[in-house]
Amino acid sequence: MWGWTLKEVTRALQEGQISPTELCQRCLSLIKKTAFLNAYVTVPEELAMQQAIAAEQRLQRGESTGPLDGVPVAVKDNFSTAGIETTCASNMLKGYIPPFNATVVQRLLDQGAVLMGKTNLDEFAMGSGSIDSIFGPVQNPWGYSEQYRERLIHDQKLEDSNWVIAGGSSGGSAVAVASQTCFASLGSDTGGSTRNPAAHCGIVGFKSSYGLLSRHGLIPLVNSMDVPGIMTRCVDDVSTVLGTLAGHDPKDSTTIQDPFEPFELPDEIDVRNLCVGIPKEYHAPGLSSEALKTWTKAADLFENAGARVVEVSLPHTQYSIVCYHVLCTTEVASNMARFDGLEYGHRSEIKSSTEALYAATRHEGFNDAVRGRILAGNYFLLKQNYDRFFVKAQKVRRLIANDFLKVFGSGIDVLLTPTTLSDAFTYHEFVKEDNRTRSAEEDIFTQSVNLAGLPAVTVPTALSERRLPLSVQFIGQAFCDKQLLTVAKWFEQQMNFPRIDIEGLLNHCTEHDKLHNSVGTV
Ligand code: GLN
Repeated sequence: MWGWTLKEVTRALQEGQISPTELCQRCLSLIKKTAFLNAYVTVPEELAMQQAIAAEQRLQRGESTGPLDGVPVAVKDNFSTAGIETTCASNMLKGYIPPFNATVVQRLLDQGAVLMGKTNLDEFAMGSGSIDSIFGPVQNPWGYSEQYRERLIHDQKLEDSNWVIAGGSSGGSAVAVASQTCFASLGSDTGGSTRNPAAHCGIVGFKSSYGLLSRHGLIPLVNSMDVPGIMTRCVDDVSTVLGTLAGHDPKDSTTIQDPFEPFELPDEIDVRNLCVGIPKEYHAPGLSSEALKTWTKAADLFENAGARVVEVSLPHTQYSIVCYHVLCTTEVASNMARFDGLEYGHRSEIKSSTEALYAATRHEGFNDAVRGRILAGNYFLLKQNYDRFFVKAQKVRRLIANDFLKVFGSGIDVLLTPTTLSDAFTYHEFVKEDNRTRSAEEDIFTQSVNLAGLPAVTVPTALSERRLPLSVQFIGQAFCDKQLLTVAKWFEQQMNFPRIDIEGLLNHCTEHDKLHNSVGTV
């Protein structure tokens, strides 16, 4: 059962091959065995079992709620979950128990999904590695595959620091799906946080058009760019989850009013009338030869199948990282103002004055990545800087969005790009340099998509030479999410990406690995 997709598990549940409670127990037991990957931060075992029992009774009565009934799912720990601690991996929110569910969480539960737990992330979703968490870093299961380990032994590099990072910031959600402890998970995507870890963990990661999925209850990073992300083992499963989540939410005025029609993707897909754009600016510095090769091969596949593949230009790509960072930090500065030690979360013991309480609370509550962004954002918003940075960045954002509009207006259906610069880094590689700069560079292919509010999906292609996943990304036109997923499904059908052998991995991983790698916060 460990290799099952969501579609396969739904069938097994509906046909009675396995019961929701048995499935839940197996997943709970696997979560314990893979705890050293640090994917989950809270596992509400009892609640999960209660949900599984309720699903079982519905199935027995023939009253199934649909494809998610009884299916184990996981949710990033920046989505509010009623009665379950929601921390954003930050001391600021440690111990916070929301009184309500995020809309997308509520919709999952209404469909009978079983919530296995809350997953690890970079604090407040700021990062691309899932290492800046108060719970310690997330580890990539591919770093324990037999093939990867053999390679390390062959290269005489089997050192402790050679465990592999999961990507981020939704690394926990990606690892939860990749390590087969659940069948779909929610991440969040502000600048690539769903697509980056999905790419590094060899799963499918989808960011919808801005406005299709409610942000109500997703603790904000950048309101104008955040979207809930969907992570699954195959493209079909994305459309299943999307069907249950999408649609207007009166609690989020940025969701579209038009009713959302859930869809199933066809099995027979013809790409002959398709026009695929290859943005020339995505030949970015730092793109590894393997990432380039897998991208080129993907383009060739489309061409050989009769699609038109053309080079296109997105000339303002070079400004996307800087533009993102000005806009991200300014929204962060404003969003984080609510954590003042009075209304929410952590409150310092230092109460000599209101000022001192604010300062101490925020110093104790936030890590330096978060504090750094608050500082930068407030700087950009200073009266004398506002036009120079904030307003300018808004204009650049418009230019970046216009680049996409122009390309799609010229007859391009989807864009094909790399998702990341290379396969996943080892911990050692990631931290040896300034990992925050590294983090920013990693997002070159993903951030402009959020700036423009477009849908995008990453699909795994092959394993790299050192046996870690490689991927490509497809970017679609706003609200053409179905077309985008259809193309992605066709592409996936052409790939033969291996599923990780989880039992092999568990046998292979020694007690020493597990202990030694339960590293602390960095
Ligand atoms: N890595 C980006 C950042 O640090 C994106 C984060 C995200 O998408 N949540 O801001």
